[in-house]
Amino acid sequence: MVRTGKQYLESLRDGRAVYIDGERVRDVTSDPRLAGAAHTVAELYDMQHDSAFASDLTYSSPKSGNPVALSFIEPRTREELERRGRAFAIVAEKCSGLFGRTPDFMNAGLAAIASASEIFNTETRALGENVRRYYEDMRERDLTMTHIQVNPQVDRTKAVSQQSHDIALKAVKETDAGFYVQGMRLVGTLAQFSNEILVMPSVVVTNDDSAADYALAFAVSVATPGVKIISRPTLIPQNAGHFLDHPLSSRFDEGDATIVFDNVFIPWENAFIYRDVERCNRLYKQSFLAEHYTHQTQTRALAKAEFMASLAIYIAKSTKIDAFPNVQSQLAELLMFVEGHKGMLAQAIATGSQTPFGTFAPNRWPLHTSQLYFYERYDKMINAVRALAAGGLVAAPSYAEFGGEIGGIIEQYFATSSMESEKRIRMLRLAWDASVSGFSGRQSLYERFYQGDPVRRATAYYRDYPVEGMIQRIDDVLDDLSVRAKQMGQ
Ligand SMILES: Cc1cc2nc3c(=O)[nH]c(=O)nc-3n(C[C@H](O)[C@H](O)[C@H](O)COP(=O)(O)OP(=O)(O)OC[C@H]3O[C@@H](n4cnc5c(N)ncnc54)[C@H](O)[C@@H]3O)c2cc1C
Repeated sequence: MVRTGKQYLESLRDGRAVYIDGERVRDVTSDPRLAGAAHTVAELYDMQHDSAFASDLTYSSPKSGNPVALSFIEPRTREELERRGRAFAIVAEKCSGLFGRTPDFMNAGLAAIASASEIFNTETRALGENVRRYYEDMRERDLTMTHIQVNPQVDRTKAVSQQSHDIALKAVKETDAGFYVQGMRLVGTLAQFSNEILVMPSVVVTNDDSAADYALAFAVSVATPGVKIISRPTLIPQNAGHFLDHPLSSRFDEGDATIVFDNVFIPWENAFIYRDVERCNRLYKQSFLAEHYTHQTQTRALAKAEFMASLAIYIAKSTKIDAFPNVQSQLAELLMFVEGHKGMLAQAIATGSQTPFGTFAPNRWPLHTSQLYFYERYDKMINAVRALAAGGLVAAPSYAEFGGEIGGIIEQYFATSSMESEKRIRMLRLAWDASVSGFSGRQSLYERFYQGDPVRRATAYYRDYPVEGMIQRIDDVLDDLSVRAKQMGQ
């Protein structure tokens, strides 16, 4: 059954161990450093009950018949994939693509591995049944998940089992009821605001048998004893004069955290992969997990590109600089990013195919292409907003000045020929948060890394791409040239 925002917020008051700025947070839903994101996610849960969105955001559970989030669907046809894409787009547009980890991301990922649950079964343990049961439980209870895949940065030239500091998360003890884990993983975006953590294998790093203790996938509730969520400092300015000064950070700082597991007990029912390097190494290739969650990430990225291009055009029009050819060509480039992205997303759905698990998956190549292209394009978009708003970004005072003793001066001196002062300050503060603030810097970092290191992902892209037809194409040209040469008597 889909939750309301209120139910979601209540679920976060569960005694979780979240740390920020040297202290333990009492309540993530009211702490001013964190509350913004909690309330943004709550709004998304409320949308599932809003008659304007409910039919697009929910479907009837195959198990209970209750309305559940559409992002949990296991798409069997192209139409279902398109339907899920519309749900992703509604959520992404609500957040202008700036909230990376809306819950639909993990929902789609979990649905993907549940559809492929058979690949988790081993000769001795039916772990696939755990994946399936867990998926159904999350879908029916509409819980919020984060995931952590990356071992801590110690010495990247060495295998995880050969580090000078053995701090990566690993299994340390086994009992009849389950196993204990100790150590750290990074990065859990939204961890502070999630109900559940999925520990998953890395997308890019593969291991050999020496890494068996670290080769795990399991689910654990955030409030489990021993789970410590260590937040980076907030991006929400704590002494802002007005909400409108930092309109994006105050709503969309979704939080990133390192997660330490201090002798945490994991019951067997929550284990998906246990001391199994092979299964970790092949999970992404076998499960269609990346295809399904990249469908969400690229739908979100499109909303973000549209937002940034729209903002850039809006800024340009405010001082009429879009009359200049250089500005027109800069804006055209942003529009081409949007159109190119739209094309790749549509292509991924149009050329999707049936998987061996009976689901219908988008085509990975257009999706991986748009994902790997996006971060550099996004940086260009940030730079375009900076270049177009220019000195206006730092000239714009706090919105609070309108209510202070120089309010009349602000009204008089910040208007342009096409925009009154109040709207212009609102626009420039938005542009600041989108292109200059700590929030915008973190957005840029996020786009580069959230789906794994783009450098190593690009090498995997090349290694996995089906190049046989391309080799054949050149062979055909070379053969044809030989024939032509012979015909010429050479
Ligand atoms: C904002 C943000 C949010 C994130 N959210 C999540 C999340 O929710 N869940 C999650 O699991 N992860 C998350 N991540 C982590 C992300 O998956 C990692 O940042 C990414 O996989 C890169 O790993 P790393 O940060 O340890 O970098 P490193 O592996 O330490 O790499 C650092 C640099 O060294 C280079 N390098 C390192 N090793 C090699 C090598 N073998 N060959 C070539 N070059 C190499 C890389 O190219 C990179 O530029 C997030 C990251 C960021 C920045």
